[in-house]
Amino acid sequence: MEQAAAIKILSDLIAIPSVNGREALVADYLTQLFADYPAQIERVEYAPERDNLVVTIGDQGPLLGFSGHEDVVAATPSSDWTYPPFQATVKDGKLYGRGASDMKSGLAAMVVAMLDLLESDQPLPGRLRLLASVGEETGEYGAAQLTAAGYANDLQGLVIGEPTDLTVRISHKGIIDYKVESVGKSVHSSRPELGQNAILPLLSFAEQAQSVLAKADQIDPALGGLTHVISQIQGGEQINSVPAHAWLTGNIRTIPAYPNATVMQQLETIVQQLNDQGAHLTLTYSYPEPPLPSQEHTALAQLASQVLQQKFNLSGAMVAGTGATDASEYHHVADLPIVIVGPADGVSDHQVDEFVTVAKYLRGCQFYQELARAFWQQAN
Ligand SMILES: [Zn+2]
Repeated sequence: MEQAAAIKILSDLIAIPSVNGREALVADYLTQLFADYPAQIERVEYAPERDNLVVTIGDQGPLLGFSGHEDVVAATPSSDWTYPPFQATVKDGKLYGRGASDMKSGLAAMVVAMLDLLESDQPLPGRLRLLASVGEETGEYGAAQLTAAGYANDLQGLVIGEPTDLTVRISHKGIIDYKVESVGKSVHSSRPELGQNAILPLLSFAEQAQSVLAKADQIDPALGGLTHVISQIQGGEQINSVPAHAWLTGNIRTIPAYPNATVMQQLETIVQQLNDQGAHLTLTYSYPEPPLPSQEHTALAQLASQVLQQKFNLSGAMVAGTGATDASEYHHVADLPIVIVGPADGVSDHQVDEFVTVAKYLRGCQFYQELARAFWQQAN
């Protein structure tokens, strides 16, 4: 494919404002790109206007997965942007727009690689499956749906195109966002014995959670330790009332040695004990995601590293990341090797004037094609 055509695909994707919703427009656009080729195209609706897309090419042979999310984070306020967020602008070798880095460049590069492979005259020596997901930025629920529906079950390897500056990300932390709500009984503060203070048990919870998780001192060689931040706290109605409502939120980044289930059990035990003492606390989670354990020794990670070194003269370095990705969900498929390798460098993710260097994007298009060929060759 001409470079201009590859850049147009990325630009077209950026022009679709798929901010936590409307991913169906991305699915529509990608469907139309594959329309003239022998490709098996399946749409998996998550909600109205929110479609995951699965595109499989090739007739037989080893099956490699490419994963990219269709959604982007918001671009507010857009007045802070130098360039309009939902219209790609190329300036001084950089392409600006929301999703340019995270991760429409990764998604576009995977699609370009697939289209280029389809254009080659030879029958493909293997198969590729694109898994384009909804809702990655708000809880990886598109990937969860595709995993549950079995779309990853027959993959022999999976590459996720999140920005890594073409290094090989082989593990990342998990995440637990939680909220504790406390209900008390409001009375005038001159007669506190008649009420129940909603704030006090919340403070006890905060203190105990901090202390228990501080004892989680296992250190992952690549990821470091578990982290815990009590990130928001709010409560009370007015200065002279016993507070009837209070809540706090926390964010925990987990590691394989101290997995989500262990942490959640500990939080639940604290809540249970406080409730046994008369508190009314409720603990809820929003989309907890497990960590991705190291993939360093998988053939896929080794191969990706090798291709980067030999074909692109890059370091092929294997690195660990902190943020969760769709890998947290796809990893539920037993023995599926997963690596995260994307063209953008990620420095401008979720920020104003997000960009990808055009040369890096184009190199990403080449990389995915080379990796697919190497994967097929190795597996055949
Ligand atoms: Zn992303």
